[in-house]
Amino acid sequence: MGQSIESYIKHLVRDAIGHTLGGLELQRDRKTYVIANWKMNKTVNETAEFFQYVKSSKNVSVVVCPSAQLLYPAHLFIKQSGQPIGLGGQNVHWADKGAYTGETSASMLKDVGCEYVIIGHSERRQYAGEDDVLVNKKVKQALKTGLTPIICIGETVDEKNSARTEQVLSTQLFGALKDLHSGDIIIAYEPVWAIGTGQSATAELAQQTHAFIRSVLKQIFGGQADSISILYGGSANENNAADYSGMPDIDGVLVGGASLQAHSFEGIINVFAKGDQNS
Ligand code: PEP
Repeated sequence: MGQSIESYIKHLVRDAIGHTLGGLELQRDRKTYVIANWKMNKTVNETAEFFQYVKSSKNVSVVVCPSAQLLYPAHLFIKQSGQPIGLGGQNVHWADKGAYTGETSASMLKDVGCEYVIIGHSERRQYAGEDDVLVNKKVKQALKTGLTPIICIGETVDEKNSARTEQVLSTQLFGALKDLHSGDIIIAYEPVWAIGTGQSATAELAQQTHAFIRSVLKQIFGGQADSISILYGGSANENNAADYSGMPDIDGVLVGGASLQAHSFEGIINVFAKGDQNS
């Protein structure tokens, strides 16, 4: 009824994907997250302004990850706003404390109100030499301290073009989750070629990849894998959020550029709060 061909085809694809995954009755027992990664942006004043305007939603867990020096002011602004918004760091050190100039420990993050921390972002893997061994140490430290790690994985354009996506993701997951027994983690699938480029992965491709990631999580955690939220990240915005929110294995988004403005970030939150608007 008044449905565009594009939307009709999308539904056919979703149905097909649903069947391969065991049927459309798939339920999402997992938490849905919309998480902002502000990277190296914003001043204290801009942070105050953002939290004055942004409205969260009770259907979605909203988390904002500002740079380290903004964490405590952000914590106070969130409290002031009365919004149910979580706070996360963008990085953490693996040691408890000590002579590590310029670093932030997990207990310092907790101390300024963080409940989450991004670990293994591709930008850090590229310029800060973060590899799977280091990611694994940081994930363990985060869990030990009571922070939920948001573990980023993703393939480069060359790896994608040479059909190595699954191999790369599998290696990153087994590396990051080595010797781990708790599935109290969040995975963010962030194809490197989609980050900050405006070339987002199609929702269908992201869904297929998320289903693969879940199959690897099952090998590692067994049944616990069903309760692990897997987020998509890479040029997600208000316009494409509805496509992702309609997919059974996409449990939210990690957003960079489009999280910097309160109105666009809120637009994404609203899409996930309502579910798939194309249905
Ligand atoms: C990111 O860097 O985590 C990210 C998803 O960035 P963007 O949304 O700008 O592609």
